[in-house]
Amino acid sequence: MGDTGIAWADKVWNPIVGCTPAGEGCRNCYAKRLHDQRHKAYHEGKRIPEQYRKPFETVQLLPERLDDPARWRKPQLVFVNSVSDLFHPDVKLDWLIRIFSVMARCERHTYVILTKRSTAMARLGCRWGTKRWRNVYLGVSICTQADADAAVPELRKLRDAGWKTVVSCEPLLESVDLGGFRPTWFVLGCESGANRRPCKLCWIEMLVTCNGYPKTFVKQLDLDGKCVTDPAKFPSNVRFRERLELLGLGVDVRGGEVK
Ligand code: SF4
Repeated sequence: MGDTGIAWADKVWNPIVGCTPAGEGCRNCYAKRLHDQRHKAYHEGKRIPEQYRKPFETVQLLPERLDDPARWRKPQLVFVNSVSDLFHPDVKLDWLIRIFSVMARCERHTYVILTKRSTAMARLGCRWGTKRWRNVYLGVSICTQADADAAVPELRKLRDAGWKTVVSCEPLLESVDLGGFRPTWFVLGCESGANRRPCKLCWIEMLVTCNGYPKTFVKQLDLDGKCVTDPAKFPSNVRFRERLELLGLGVDVRGGEVK
């Protein structure tokens, strides 16, 4: 449960499902495509989990998943909400409190939250502070310059409040300038899947070099019109596969649990 093919994470944890678009990066949303197929199958009478009765656009809390991190004994790098957006306006404050309480309680894990709603995340992150969540990275998905212009001031607020920040430029859809903002960690990549849009290598190179080489993970590149995931095939100047540090409490430097 929770295992993932996402190269930079150990687990995904999806206590919330469902979302609506928040920019160009959402046009080919993988989560929507998958949910729509299953929603259709559910209404054709197939044996599909109950969450698919509702359309993707209905944001739902799945309370039975809240305790998943408590069941993972070994420290994990957890991607929170890979099929939704934790800061969607339909996510209730009570749900956020329950999810953040789990992250504070299951402190052996390290959590990465990525949102396209940076203003809502910064408001909450600055109000709650980092004290109970030193094992949490707060990140924003940035696909276009408009995304960057909106998100960077919010990321600066979070950084100034002590949060470790992530910028995920995937899918990167145009050349983006972060105005010198240096996140704790960078994820970069072209779009994948059907209908993917092109991503120039120079856009990736610019982001890495202009932002002073923060810890970086290049997930996939558009090379000769193909989406390439094998880092051995990446040009050496963008062959970065640096994973996030495990920040969870009770974790030794080798990532094992302290007895
Ligand atoms: S924010 Fe994420 S989950 Fe929501 S529609 Fe956009 S890509 Fe899909």
